[in-house]
Amino acid sequence: MSRLKKITEAASAIIGEVPFDSYTFIAIGPGRGGIEHLNNTTVSFDGNTLNDEVSVNRMMNFLAHEYFHHYNVKRIRPFELGPFDYEKGSRTNMLWLSEGLTVYYEYLIVKRAGLADEGTLLANLEKNINAHENNPGRFHQPAV
Ligand SMILES: [Zn+2]
Repeated sequence: MSRLKKITEAASAIIGEVPFDSYTFIAIGPGRGGIEHLNNTTVSFDGNTLNDEVSVNRMMNFLAHEYFHHYNVKRIRPFELGPFDYEKGSRTNMLWLSEGLTVYYEYLIVKRAGLADEGTLLANLEKNINAHENNPGRFHQPAV
């Protein structure tokens, strides 16, 4: 079974429902970031960067993150984000929750997919917590 299939199955098992007939990962080449939709996601992807275990783990976390967004953000979302206003934009102060939970689940999904061990899961969470705690901006701007 492909790693991506393991990720989608592990993510779907968390919610217990798959709300589409098909889902597409659209790799658009080198860059940064992704954008989620109801039944697909567009992700920056550069196969040349997958040259070690850490890089592969980072990519699996990223793909799990973008996939899980079809649940957490596209279907479970702050009130202000649905329906999205493409003319004026939609503002919310709840992205800390939408993104924060998705980051938590990306690591858990990759672990449950059998693609990372517990040490890797905990190291990734530790890295995020340390990045937050060592960021002086947290004293000036709350997560909201
Ligand atoms: Zn995200």
